Amino acid sequence: MDSVVETLACGGIDLHCHSTASDGRLTPTQLVEAAAAAGVRMLALTDHDTLAGLAEAQQAARACGITLVTGVEISVRWRQRTLHVIGLDIDVETAAMRNGLAQLQEQRRLRAAAIAAKLERLGLADALNRASVQASGGQVTRTHYARLLVESGMCKTIQQAFKHYLGSGQPAYAAAEWVPMAEAIHWIIGAGGSAVLAHPLRYHLGTDARTRLLREFRQAGGRALEVCSGNSRDADIVLCAADARRHQLLGSVGSDFHGPEQRWLKLGAMPPLPASVTPVWTRFASALGVAHEQVIR
Ligand code: AMP
Ligand code: MN
Ligand code: MN
Ligand code: MN
Repeated sequence: MDSVVETLACGGIDLHCHSTASDGRLTPTQLVEAAAAAGVRMLALTDHDTLAGLAEAQQAARACGITLVTGVEISVRWRQRTLHVIGLDIDVETAAMRNGLAQLQEQRRLRAAAIAAKLERLGLADALNRASVQASGGQVTRTHYARLLVESGMCKTIQQAFKHYLGSGQPAYAAAEWVPMAEAIHWIIGAGGSAVLAHPLRYHLGTDARTRLLREFRQAGGRALEVCSGNSRDADIVLCAADARRHQLLGSVGSDFHGPEQRWLKLGAMPPLPASVTPVWTRFASALGVAHEQVIR
């Protein structure tokens, strides 16, 4: 049997993870190999605001006999907040998407320099160069600065680096002009993809604000909610599944894996999508060669 036309067993699908093209620890090849070894049969690589890792990931996926879904995690703004919208199964050649992401990459360069200037004043020497080395030519993200703060001994953990330096309102925080949510969704739709609202409970929105967000997300053409994340608790999944049903959204599953140092998090190791939610991969699995009826949760 064709290796991709197989039953996707529980844990066989992971539609959210990062490589060295953004703030992941593994190269696209290493990531795909790790996913295949963990039993993932269909993987979306979703680096922050870049498609740079996808070609290598595609090659590795062919070699491993697993299905790669083209993806990206776009930094968007919605009512003065930063949110993340994932595009799945996108045509990577689409001009509007490529040009839009190029603008976000320029925002990242400007913001990386602004963060570095602040960190240098706070005692971290040569921050921009060192973060660029950390990023090994990929996108510089706050995660790279967080790792630098830990390596330099200024912070004990990555979480502390965000809490005391890099998080919103902290001394090394610098804002970026992300793209309005509706425009990012528009790029994704224009590229033939499905827009997924990533980790909907991580934005600390009250019930009313979350309802407004989901309504506007859906009105703008958003298709799915990430119902199961790497660190979702059962109650979170119940809540997100109810939100998906209420707003007529499909459901997605993604670990948000960044590297083996997140020891609590494994590729493909999310709880299954509740049966009451229609999986987002019904929109693209068969076109990618995974038999529809064989795609189980
Ligand atoms: P950026 O897109 O450059 O602003 O960086 C955002 C990334 O930083 C997220 O995708 C996470 O990987 C990471 N991040 C944000 N907040 C935290 C936190 N509190 N602890 C650990 N990682 C975080
Ligand atoms: Mn990240
Ligand atoms: Mn995210
Ligand atoms: Mn992510």
